[in-house]
Amino acid sequence: MTELTPNAAGQGLCSCHVCNLVSRRGPESAQAHCPRCGASLHFRKPGSVARCWALLLAAYILYIPANLLTIMETGSLFSYRRDTIMSGVIQLWNTGSYAIAVVVFIASVTIPLLKLISLTMLLVSVQRRSKWRPRQRTQLYRMVEFVGRWSMLDIYVVTLLAALVRLGNIATVKAGPGALAFGAVVVLTMFASMQFDPRLIWDPFQKERNS
Ligand SMILES: [Zn+2]
Repeated sequence: MTELTPNAAGQGLCSCHVCNLVSRRGPESAQAHCPRCGASLHFRKPGSVARCWALLLAAYILYIPANLLTIMETGSLFSYRRDTIMSGVIQLWNTGSYAIAVVVFIASVTIPLLKLISLTMLLVSVQRRSKWRPRQRTQLYRMVEFVGRWSMLDIYVVTLLAALVRLGNIATVKAGPGALAFGAVVVLTMFASMQFDPRLIWDPFQKERNS
């Protein structure tokens, strides 16, 4: 399975990103264009690793304020609270909403972090042209992509949290700056995983490829 295998790029075949026409592209020509629609041809998404890194680093940086800043402010006649994600989870736990506390913790702390770590690991392994477990790494990428579709669940959970607090009394609930940072983390991670080209995982298994 992990022997050297021929692939399209190795044989100079390139599929157009716009119209999907497969055409032959010589390695010597720097800039090739699709014979059918005229779009420029690339064997792999150009600059995908660099772009993925940039988005990922931005997501890592914003992950800190997302967890440290107030995600929501709640006030009523008698009390006023500012909650970060963690203090919200602890509050839910202390008031006996164990299931919701666990869901919120997993959706808004664990999953975003796991996505960031998975993408980092994929990028590092691709840059080192690692031949370690390509199938599992491809599956990992698929999982990150799949979770990406459900990423808004994280934000939904925060909204749910706000709604739950709002229930029962005359209160005001306001999203804090942490919510903005948190949303940015989710969106940046989604863009980062879209930038990554999973074919790069399999490139070390093929004899040679030009650009
Ligand atoms: Zn085309």
